[in-house]
Amino acid sequence: MLKNNIKLSHFVLIASLINFLLYHFHFFKFVFNTLDYKSLSGITIIVSLVIIMLVVNAFVLYLIFFLSRFVGKLLLVIFFIINAIALYFINTYNVLIDITMIGNVINTDYEEASSFFSWGLIMYLILFGLIPSFFIIKAKIIKESLKRFLISFSLTLLFIICMVFVNGGNWRWIDKNSTKLGALAMPWSYIVNTSRYYIKKSKENEKEILLPNATIKDNEKSIAVLVIGESARSQNFSLYGYEKLTNPLLSKIENLHSYKATACATYTTAGVKCILEHESTNKLYEILPNYLHRNNVEVIWKTTNWGEPPIHIKNFYNKTELRKDCEGEECNYDEILLKGLQEQILASKKDKILIVLHTSTSHGPSYNTKYPSRFENFKPVCNSVELGECTSEELINAYDNTIVYTDYILSSLIENLKELKDYNSMMMFVSDHGESLGENNLYMHGIPVAFAPKEQLEIPFIVWMSDNSKQLKYNKTETLSQNHVFHSVLNFLAIESPIYDESMNIFK
Ligand SMILES: [Zn+2]
Repeated sequence: MLKNNIKLSHFVLIASLINFLLYHFHFFKFVFNTLDYKSLSGITIIVSLVIIMLVVNAFVLYLIFFLSRFVGKLLLVIFFIINAIALYFINTYNVLIDITMIGNVINTDYEEASSFFSWGLIMYLILFGLIPSFFIIKAKIIKESLKRFLISFSLTLLFIICMVFVNGGNWRWIDKNSTKLGALAMPWSYIVNTSRYYIKKSKENEKEILLPNATIKDNEKSIAVLVIGESARSQNFSLYGYEKLTNPLLSKIENLHSYKATACATYTTAGVKCILEHESTNKLYEILPNYLHRNNVEVIWKTTNWGEPPIHIKNFYNKTELRKDCEGEECNYDEILLKGLQEQILASKKDKILIVLHTSTSHGPSYNTKYPSRFENFKPVCNSVELGECTSEELINAYDNTIVYTDYILSSLIENLKELKDYNSMMMFVSDHGESLGENNLYMHGIPVAFAPKEQLEIPFIVWMSDNSKQLKYNKTETLSQNHVFHSVLNFLAIESPIYDESMNIFK
């Protein structure tokens, strides 16, 4: 490697192999501890992780080195040196290089940092950082022709895509352990988590663009309840024609309408943002709860989930706060969102009330843990997050039970609203995105919208109105978007605003 010239493709493979051998003891120790490595599915995951790690790292290096061998060498040396330091801290202090750790490192001052200095650290730096770097700097790499580069590049890319598809079922295990795996895979742990840290910081400081002021047109008492679903796909609701009875209660309720709808994204933060904003943009406009709160509407937000844009209202309750004063089995499930709701509504002195309940019931991969046992209508269910341990039927059964439980929560909510006879009330259930349950060997969600299968995009949009409150203007065949929520809530609560768009409102 020192004296002889080496081909670029060989060099990046060797560099990737060195990266794998030197810095990934803890990564695989964790994998072996959490997986059943004697089972076929366990072996598949381990072999796939080794291959993917080697190939992906070599692939990225290949691209960088082809563009500039100087930049490539510089980056590789920097990575190996940081890897060596990270390895020292992982071995000595048992730390994980996750987003919290990166935050700690970035906010450490010189004095604190210098207290970590030790001869052990110097040894790690020399053995795992400087010595491999020396060979990298000395290596004489032969430049490859563009044609050869393009061929190797596309074949490797194809190979990586195939590996991803072959491992479809393993994503559930990988997703469950992604934080730990990501924190131990070098150099990605600190690259990805440093970027995540800065993105998070800039989002926290992002100021929302205020919408023009709104006025409340009448003093009729009305309540709009928006229930945000999690990973609920319309296909598994009997309201949408599913052959299993997953909506035994909602299907009996009058004035209930289910519209076809498409999500704007396949992950929570983006889906929730679309449900709350007046139009889908990359900017952060004032979202529905903040807008109505600023314009004198009583707004209550209760959540067992996360990932909403910054909320600036008085009555915000997260899972920890809700659980603090809750007793009984139901406190561990989404029913907790309904506790005390009637009292809170009655205590309000305002005529117009918006309540947002952000649920988490259908979030995978452990669907079977998201509902009380009495809702286990479909059996047997999947109890594992590993591939091969569950059949497709068991997985779908567990998911369908989460829909049965959602059916119960929504119908209880409607019963609660019916009892408040002095109010016109409306309930809207819209999911953040859909879910894959093994179709095309895909699981969970998160595939970019352009490639996403329909299962991840087709969401329920269910509306109920109290007697004599409002009529719907669309028939059932209309396909809605998440942005319909904003304008329809404005219409229902009789709020006049220059931003209001009649074409996005579902009420007469
Ligand atoms: Zn989600």
